[in-house]
Amino acid sequence: MAEQTISDGVDFMTKEVIVEQAQIILEKYKPFGVAGMSLLDKICDEYNIIVEQHMFHNSFNGMLWTKNRQYYILINCNLCPSRWLFTYAHEVGHWWLHRHIRGNFFCGPPNGQTYNPVEHEANIFAAELLLPREQILQCLDSGLTVKKIARIYRVSEEAATYRVKELQSRSV
Ligand SMILES: [Zn+2]
Repeated sequence: MAEQTISDGVDFMTKEVIVEQAQIILEKYKPFGVAGMSLLDKICDEYNIIVEQHMFHNSFNGMLWTKNRQYYILINCNLCPSRWLFTYAHEVGHWWLHRHIRGNFFCGPPNGQTYNPVEHEANIFAAELLLPREQILQCLDSGLTVKKIARIYRVSEEAATYRVKELQSRSV
């Protein structure tokens, strides 16, 4: 029998399901012409999620938090801009994908953490929102480098590299 990873009693989502969920959002907000941070702001506006910055310890990126049925996304303002944006998208991911599981998610940096599928799912979702596959494939077709893609989409080069490799391996 295959060993199962236990985390929060969650039924894990396949990557396809997460990608599909992100696509639903991208389609929904396409008419507004928003992307990156303005897309995240738009989602939070519409669903009345309060977004705040806090001076957290460096080992802490952000959190999704609920109080009196009000959702909050709290982001560590000490993060560099690319990490900040990714964390924002990651917390929106917890809200979109996981809020029925529980109301609070405390999210540290990926390093030094034990593998947690729920965190992994929120990361996949964040990458889908911030680096939409169709757009990134178009960028690659038109010869943009990973460095340029990272700059345009305001993500770290690491995140852009990971995404480009992932999409290239799929589009063969
Ligand atoms: Zn998280």
